[in-house]
Amino acid sequence: MKKSSVQIIRTKKELRVQVTDWHMQGLKVGMVPTMGALHHGHLSLIREIQKHVDKVVVSIFVNPKQFGPNEDFDKYPRSETTDIKKLNEVNTDLLYAPEVSEIYPDGFLTTVTVAKITEGLCADKRPGHFDGVTTVVTKLLLQCLPDVALFGEKDFQQYTVLKQMAKDLDMPTEVMCGKLIRDEDGLATSSRNVYLTPEERKIALEIPKTLKQVITEIEEGILPIEEALEKGKQHMMDCGFKEVQYLEIRHSDNLEPLTQTFPETSPILARILVAAVVGRTRLIDNMPIKIFF
Ligand code: AMP
Repeated sequence: MKKSSVQIIRTKKELRVQVTDWHMQGLKVGMVPTMGALHHGHLSLIREIQKHVDKVVVSIFVNPKQFGPNEDFDKYPRSETTDIKKLNEVNTDLLYAPEVSEIYPDGFLTTVTVAKITEGLCADKRPGHFDGVTTVVTKLLLQCLPDVALFGEKDFQQYTVLKQMAKDLDMPTEVMCGKLIRDEDGLATSSRNVYLTPEERKIALEIPKTLKQVITEIEEGILPIEEALEKGKQHMMDCGFKEVQYLEIRHSDNLEPLTQTFPETSPILARILVAAVVGRTRLIDNMPIKIFF
């Protein structure tokens, strides 16, 4: 049965009133934080969290604190009207779309920082990015107080950092991970894919292809880890990427680097993670990989 249109709220006060009311009725509330320009990846998170909760809040907030000075904050795609249509298609209960001043009023002075797992990978080229993410997600979770929050596997380092943060800060919200969604051609779905020209998109498709190739070479023992990664990076550069910022393998639970040896005998569930620039667009992707020693 078709439900009524998504309720739109722009202030933390109204959000608290609504979520408190749901909690008083004994309903479980889930939150999916996003920056909008919604796509299949976001909608899949909404459908997934609906299996665990009674009411779903989606936030749309393009967070200035997680963009560097030379990044795409100003031109990041914003499409609230289309987003609302998509939210209605998947029966979202509430859209929380605050103004920047609602999140960062004058005089705002606090930063939330997670150590260690915010070093390396995306942090190398995006200094301050994870502080921006952890600060805004702390605020969104405190404003909403959901029982569950769902983040996408697409941003694997981000999910790991946010899970750690919620645990360390005793947040009353369970942080869960939703699976990575790809476009039909295999490219990880992203709001930034709209920046790609057809020619750039062809190059971008080498990301998932290279990840698969490196996984095969390592899992089947064809090449040692370092050599397979080096070959993968070289292949991507040969295909026309402007830069391969990283192509690395990390432990799935704690993001410890996995290079040559590890004192374990059973296979380790790891992740191969990549960030690369094609044209002026930075893309990320990751896949699971089994490491045997
Ligand atoms: P964003 O709007 O890009 O900040 O993303 C909001 C949430 O959607 C984050 O938890 C992302 O990890 C998640 N997300 C973005 N793209 C995908 C995707 N292709 N598959 C699954 N989740 C995604």
